[in-house]
Amino acid sequence: AARRLEGKTILITGASSGIGKSTALEFARTNPNGNLRLIITARRVDSLEELAAQIRKETNDGVKVLPVKLDVSKADEIRGFVGSLPEEWRDIHVLVNNAGLVKGVAKAPEIAEDDLNIMFATNVTGLINLTQAILPIFQKRPNGGQGDIINIGSIAGREPYPGGSIYCATKAAVRSFTESLRKELIATRIRVIEVDPGQVETEFSIVRFYGDKSKADAIYAGCDPLTPDDIAEIVVFSATRPENVVLAESLVYPNHQA
Ligand code: NDP
Repeated sequence: AARRLEGKTILITGASSGIGKSTALEFARTNPNGNLRLIITARRVDSLEELAAQIRKETNDGVKVLPVKLDVSKADEIRGFVGSLPEEWRDIHVLVNNAGLVKGVAKAPEIAEDDLNIMFATNVTGLINLTQAILPIFQKRPNGGQGDIINIGSIAGREPYPGGSIYCATKAAVRSFTESLRKELIATRIRVIEVDPGQVETEFSIVRFYGDKSKADAIYAGCDPLTPDDIAEIVVFSATRPENVVLAESLVYPNHQA
């Protein structure tokens, strides 16, 4: 399966922490000598540089890594993104749309406008804009095109909960967009895949509580959440199936989660 990654260029959003970071590491570890190229993006460039150094060291420079600042909530950054890459990095084969966030816990009347806007701009509009930017690269390949789009949704997109209406709505939107796109591209070799995690312990809850780590830690107390590696393994597994196999949707629950 690792051979299917040989010579491929993979673009991951939100690679500075959590699931995106683990996914970059998992791709590198799956094919450490296969001329793999990883474009790792997020807003925090320092964290990306650290991750790039770690991957280069672990693979003895077998995997090439390019850290690039990309704020997916900014349409102009996405517009200029592909053109700004060095020529040899533009032949992208796999896009992992992972960047995403939740802000606040609030019932509908109290939802802050900034939180509403940033969640939709990042989780939905950003994912769609970047997909539109990358699809033409896939579509230039023979037989209607070739490539993988792997979107990180959430169980929250299927099972809404009180106090999380906006986040849940963004992930429901990701699910609808992903499914429509998969059907639009059915006659091509472009695969559209969604991975929906349940509870994963990452910086996600720290962001939700505006940086309050003790509130974030309380979320995971007494339960056994997924690790980012659990999700990274599913993403890489999906990308390394034979080309006729589309693992269209994976729902990944921690064992305790109903
Ligand atoms: P983290 O907070 O650890 O990681 C989120 C990543 O997204 C960071 O790398 C962050 O980087 C990046 N990000 C946030 N905003 C932007 C932006 N505007 N532009 C570019 N990158 C951005 O959380 P997770 O790893 O848990 O989250 C990854 C994905 O998994 C998200 O889509 C989330 O909704 C989803 N998910 C998470 C679950 C969980 O329980 N943790 C459950 C289900 C789904 P930076 O700040 O440097 O930009």
